[in-house]
Amino acid sequence: MRVDVVSIFPEYLAPLELSLVGKARTSGLLDLRVHDLRDWTDDRHRTVDDTPFGGGAGMVMRPDVWGRALDDVLTPEAHLLVPSPAGAPFTQRTAEELAGEQHLVVACGRYEGIDARVAEHYAARARVTEVSLGDYVLNGGEVAALVVVEAVARLLPGVVGNPESLVEESHGAAGLLEYPVYTKPPSWQGHDVPDVLLSGHHARIARWRRDQALRRTAVRRPDLLEALDVARWDRHDLEV
Ligand code: SAM
Repeated sequence: MRVDVVSIFPEYLAPLELSLVGKARTSGLLDLRVHDLRDWTDDRHRTVDDTPFGGGAGMVMRPDVWGRALDDVLTPEAHLLVPSPAGAPFTQRTAEELAGEQHLVVACGRYEGIDARVAEHYAARARVTEVSLGDYVLNGGEVAALVVVEAVARLLPGVVGNPESLVEESHGAAGLLEYPVYTKPPSWQGHDVPDVLLSGHHARIARWRRDQALRRTAVRRPDLLEALDVARWDRHDLEV
């Protein structure tokens, strides 16, 4: 997969050189290119913004600068992502869908955001999705780019060493939060690992984990339980 991130703060994307994403880049599973939007400016001050038409506080990112950048970076198969607090919520489903793409381009806004004509213009010739990380306002789209790249990259075949790790995760196919996990030592500061996990009894462990996932989801995210297809529950689940 190819991913291009365009930002006025390319250094902000440095963490994408680390850990699993960094390894995916060096192994060739992920072709990630970070660009400085100011490379597409045409004035001495490398200006990317201007005052908003209609007045009001703050500055808006200019469409002509973004247009030159996106004309260079977009390919015919690209899916353009524009982070915005007014976008569609970015979820694990979004990440799964995007993991099937050949090319993603992330346009990181700053200030009051990118002139609205940019998304409108490119929607006529490419897939354009405005994505929101959540109901809060960040200073720029770079954090969203980090989140999108990390969530999508770990779904690409070969990026996570053991693909089994992806199966029972929170927000995965089961639609539940993950059960609690433990490692050595079996007793720490007076807190013991549940006996069943030390039993070696695989069926009982699987049952315990399923029950814990259900309980956790019921307590922390009842909205997720409500969205579950009851036909996929077993009788035991309904007794929990
Ligand atoms: N004035 C804009 C509004 O109220 O919708 C907020 C602009 S914000 C200060 C600057 C940039 O941060 C946005 O263009 C977007 O790229 C990014 N951003 C802020 N909050 C975000 C969120 N919740 N999800 C995704 N991107 C966000």
